[in-house]
Amino acid sequence: MMRRVSLAAFALLAAACTRVDDASTARALPSITTPSGVEMVLIPAGEFRMGSDRGAEDESPAHTVRVDAFLMDRCEVTQAHFEKLMGENPSKVKSSAHPVEMVTWVLAALYSNARSRAEGLEPCYDEETAECDFSRSGYRLPTEAEWEYACRAGTSGDYSFAGGERALREHAWFAANSSKTTHPAGLKKPNPWGLHDMHGNAAEWTNDIYAEDYYGTSPADNPRGPALGKQYVVRGGSWKDGPDVLRSSHRVAENPGFADACLAPDTLGLRCVRRAPEPAPIEAGAAETKPDEGNAEGASIDEEAGASRTADPAARPAIEIGARTGDEATGASTDETDETDETDETDHASNDEPPASPALKTGLLYGDIYLEHRTPAGFPEQPSRLRDILRGLEESGLIERLVRIDPAPAAMQWITAIHSPEYVERVRAACAKLGADDVEYLDTADMPISARSHEVALAAAGGVLAAVDAVLEGKVRSAFCAVRPPGHHALRDRAMGFCIFNNVAIAARYIQKRHELRKVLIVDWDVHHGNATQDAFYDDPTVLYFSTHLHPFYPGTGAEELTGRGEGKGTNINAPLQPGDGDDAIRKAFQEKLVPAALEFRPDFVLISCGFDAHVNDRLGRLAVTSEGFAELTRIVKGIAERCSSGRIVSVLEGGYTPENLASAAAAHVRALME
Ligand SMILES: [Zn+2]
Repeated sequence: MMRRVSLAAFALLAAACTRVDDASTARALPSITTPSGVEMVLIPAGEFRMGSDRGAEDESPAHTVRVDAFLMDRCEVTQAHFEKLMGENPSKVKSSAHPVEMVTWVLAALYSNARSRAEGLEPCYDEETAECDFSRSGYRLPTEAEWEYACRAGTSGDYSFAGGERALREHAWFAANSSKTTHPAGLKKPNPWGLHDMHGNAAEWTNDIYAEDYYGTSPADNPRGPALGKQYVVRGGSWKDGPDVLRSSHRVAENPGFADACLAPDTLGLRCVRRAPEPAPIEAGAAETKPDEGNAEGASIDEEAGASRTADPAARPAIEIGARTGDEATGASTDETDETDETDETDHASNDEPPASPALKTGLLYGDIYLEHRTPAGFPEQPSRLRDILRGLEESGLIERLVRIDPAPAAMQWITAIHSPEYVERVRAACAKLGADDVEYLDTADMPISARSHEVALAAAGGVLAAVDAVLEGKVRSAFCAVRPPGHHALRDRAMGFCIFNNVAIAARYIQKRHELRKVLIVDWDVHHGNATQDAFYDDPTVLYFSTHLHPFYPGTGAEELTGRGEGKGTNINAPLQPGDGDDAIRKAFQEKLVPAALEFRPDFVLISCGFDAHVNDRLGRLAVTSEGFAELTRIVKGIAERCSSGRIVSVLEGGYTPENLASAAAAHVRALME
């Protein structure tokens, strides 16, 4: 006879998933609804045969495993619940009842912690080391053994139901019936223990590090994965997979941060588990029988379920998206821990702020020196632009959560990697002869300079290099550079269009030469075409330049036919836009032109030429991108970075000439970087 746990202490809130009950099975095990509104099934302790000798090599040898009792989400975590706790919804296909996807392992762990905090439980994950403390009371990802045990629910075949592939259609959303998307969690028939979507819909992260030969040596009691390794195990298959991947014992090794992902990120979701509740009070219950009494007999709610047996902390990668830099990334900003207290987290959950984590911080590069480049009254490119941006970051409450990076002048060798020494000298000499209040013009009528402009331009380029260093040293995951003068029109030998040195192009060469990374993606969403960036890398296959811009428009370049030259053929992508084009048009260009090219190119680092002059009602531009539109573009670029470059992004201010737009667009952009 099963025992039923009385859980009167738990508030019975509405279940977060829209599950369809199957009377014969869904009530087979007791369940609770947690204070944050998630229904969880109490999985009894028991033994089962893990793996399969008929499946892939890494599924064997099949072996007997015992797991302690635990609570497991009845459904995959929905977008609604994820957003409620995290203030963001990373999913590609947005629909609140669908499982959340585009979730990295790191984000899954952070969600687990946020959920623990929201319910007054002890977070399981150390946010510096990614170590899971199994003795804590809070939420975590299931071990591989827990996952397979719960999925099998007492069965021993390929799936948790009879009928093989044909029956899959009743139980799972997968390649044959999903129409290439997720579906609301809990719609399909549950497994014998009442768990929905264990096969298909979103694939699910486990807590275990992957090793192909792990089953040969794993312990029989509560195995928790090997201590070493860079990939984690994903289970259950997704809407995109064929029947084989949906099998109960199928294992996928996946990078925790999307870099070198085998699976598409929009298939990756999660469900949580936590320690079974205390055994008392227990009342004799008239629980229903279930298909396989063998596993349920003797089921006990064992207080020892969470007995601590943590992995070697040194063996775990830092909890940040940095798998490919795991050795050098050390969990950024360890000295900034003020944002991880519970109060702060709770605030985040309630006011749509992205979650705080020392290891997932974004940097802000800014210095007052950037105000010292003077332009005439009435000129669009003014020092006040940066004050507008800072105001936007302050008013949105973001600024104190950013890691400040200070500018430093760029060493001449990096400037001359893009510009001729003669030109650099010409800039210096032209500024040197100016008095404190003078404004002259360099090369063109749209390039005013003042006495300190040369020094400021060196600091702008140097600041971007400092931001690159901060990212590659693991101090921040990404950075936004509020710099001026801007750069993407500055040619090798000539100033142009408010630009003196091409900050982004200089950074690209610096990344390659100083940090020895091979491939750089430059995404330029300024309303103007970055003619100088195109020029700098036009025949270079190691830099992919992608630009959306109004065309024809200043500076006249940027035709779609210009795709690169020689070895660089195909690594220059111009996506011209029409006057009035807004969020939909620019998003389409990003999704259809940038994303496929970038995923094929596989950059090691991503730079953004971040011009806010594509904003609706910009003083100079004629496009209609909204602030939220810039956030969307940011998320798309982040998706690329997370898949290819361990999330490494440095965004560099280019244009943007209307104060209110600068404030709101910068806040939206930086917030999206921080998510
Ligand atoms: Zn511009």
